[in-house]
Parts: sequence; C-alpha cells; structure tokens
Amino acid sequence: MNPEFSAPTVDATDLDATDADATDATPDATIVVPLVGASVTELTDWIQTQGQPAYRGKQLHQWIYERGIQSLAEVTVFPKAWRETVTNVNIGRSRIALRSPSRDGTVKFLLEMVDGQIIEAVGIPAYKTGSNKLDRLTVCVSSQVGCPMACDFCATGKGGFKRNLERHEIVDQILTVQADFQERVSNVVFMGMGEPLLNVENVAEAVRSMNQDIGIGQRSMTISTVGIPGQIRRLADRHLQSTLAVSLHASNQEVREQLIPSATKYPLEALLDECRDYVNITGRRVTFEYIVLAGMNDHTQHAHELAHLLKGFQSHVNLIPYNPISEVDYQRPNDRQLQVFMSTLKAKNVAVSVRRSRGLDANAACGQLRANQLEQLATPA
Ligand code: SF4
Repeated sequence: MNPEFSAPTVDATDLDATDADATDATPDATIVVPLVGASVTELTDWIQTQGQPAYRGKQLHQWIYERGIQSLAEVTVFPKAWRETVTNVNIGRSRIALRSPSRDGTVKFLLEMVDGQIIEAVGIPAYKTGSNKLDRLTVCVSSQVGCPMACDFCATGKGGFKRNLERHEIVDQILTVQADFQERVSNVVFMGMGEPLLNVENVAEAVRSMNQDIGIGQRSMTISTVGIPGQIRRLADRHLQSTLAVSLHASNQEVREQLIPSATKYPLEALLDECRDYVNITGRRVTFEYIVLAGMNDHTQHAHELAHLLKGFQSHVNLIPYNPISEVDYQRPNDRQLQVFMSTLKAKNVAVSVRRSRGLDANAACGQLRANQLEQLATPA
C-alpha cells in the first residue's frame, strides 16, 4: 500500500482513498482513489500530492478520458518506478460481470463495483437510415444500486435499494460503453437503475464530468425522475442544461398513487409547480413520461384530465405502451385506444408522441418503463 493514498491532501471530498474492505485491509488490498469523474484541476492537485509535477495532471486527464485506462500502470508516460507503487490502486473503474448484446445492436452490461454490488448500464447505438454508419451512441446509466421508489410496474423497484452510486461509478459507465463500442458516446439518459434525484449531488457532478471531461453536450443528457419533493428545484439551481423527464404516468392523484407509492407525499400540483420552476430557471422544457396501462390510465377521460393538467405548460408528453411482464399484472393498451388517447391530447394542443416498441429484452434496465424507453432510443432518427 502506498501510504500517500491513505492520507490524500487534495480536494478531499472527491479524491479520498477508500479501502475496498477497510476492516480487512492488507498491504496488497485494493485501494479506490476515484480519479474517474475528476476534473483536470482535481487531477493536477492530486498528482502533485504524489510527488509528480503539475503538468502530469493534464496527461492523466487525457489517459483517463481519451484512452480509457483501467489502471495507473497503463500510463506509460509516467515514471515506471512511480507506477510500480500504485499497482493496487483502482482509479474508479468497474469490472464487466456480464455483456449481453441484442440483435438490434444494443448491449447491456452488468457492472461489478469494488464492493461487489452489481448495476446495469446499456449502450444503445442508432445508425443513419439505410447505412451502418453510427448516428448516435446513447448510454442508459444507473444512479443507484437498486431503487427505493417501488413503482408498481417496475422490476428494479421490486428488488429493493442498496446504496447511491458515487460520481466515479456513474462516469465509469460511460467509459465502459465507449471502450466496448470503440465509439464516442453522444447521449446519456439517467434511466437505468435508481431514482437520480435521490442522488442529486453525485448525479450533477457526474453530468459536469461527462460534459467537461468527456465532451458530451449537456443538452444531450436526460435526467429522468418520478419526482422527489424539493429535488427538481434543487436540480434547477445547479443550472444544468440537461433535459428533465418526469414520469407522470397518471392524470390524477388517485391513479398516480396506485402506480407510484411515494406519490402519496407529493401531490401532482406540487410536482407540476416544481416543473414550472425548472422551466423558468433553466429555460428548458420538461418531458412528461406516461406509461400507458390498459384499463388503468388509458381512458379518454384520462386524456382530457392530462390535457387540463398540462394546459399552458412548455412540455412534451411521451406515451409509452406497456409491455406485460410476469412480475406485474398490468396489460398493454390496444392500438385503437392508444390512438384515441393521443388524438384527444393533440386536439387540446398537447405536444405528444408514442414510443414504438421493438421488443427489447424484457429485463433490460429499469423494468418495463426503461425497456420501452430504450427501444425508442435505439430507433434511427
Ligand atoms: S421506475 Fe425508476 S423510480 Fe420507479 S422503481 Fe423503477 S427505477 Fe425506481
């Protein structure tokens, strides 16, 4: 163990070293120094604590984000003697526990964190129509291990919650997909495991890193939430330019509470007030997600209610026809009813679209909602 890592003197909140198992640390134990997700300034500060000159901070930045190194031992421009002192350092990279490609080119990864927890990340390529040239590469990232929100239609929600992901664990998902596809990631959606707004600080820091360190436009990132009181405003105060996608799924409070248990503490009006603040503060419109469940929230009356709810709102509604899975009882709406629902909204001047289902694996990402969103994302523009 290099003692320098156990007592870093740099910006500490982000680059504190942690033993993979502090209670069982041995001289050879892996130490996590979360350099992934760190800015060039943070890396410069840190490398100097290692007795290296400041210019190596910029070099390290390039090797982490452009070359996608897994370990410091790979940075061959650094002195060999120094690299040999840091062989037990994990810079914040995960291990691919499973790589599962789909026929449409989508690749789902199960990633193992240093503490053994497993999360999902999905790489979703979109090709230019009629060619095999990549148009976009979207990554669906997780923000938590599991999820505490327990949405009634979601497989992830039924699995319980373990912990929040750290900044480096979120950014690592991008680097992993980028390395696997050998292509630059163009878009990011926080629609994997977890509720991002229960982990605002790490999510916002990860967005900063993806933008400034990796070069992904903030407007090409979408943060999806079922709504946590006070957190949409908190996110707005960070003045991110990312798109906010709010999972509404209901046109009235009663139905929403049946689908999203946490909605009992968050009346629809209060949620929409925060969304209005988000639009006012960031100048960005809000996307509302509406998973359509046969007989549950797809009546024409629901469409009227939804139009009334969103009257005058700068927004877009995505209707997501539900695909039944074994764990829950809901059914897919029939196409005619879906068309009536959409036409009713359009007639009331609500911007609306339906996401096309392409039959992605049922266990992809965050339950059925996430699976359907991924299918849409994989569709060529
Ligand atoms: S839909 Fe999203 S917020 Fe709801 S339980 Fe699943 S992961 Fe959590």
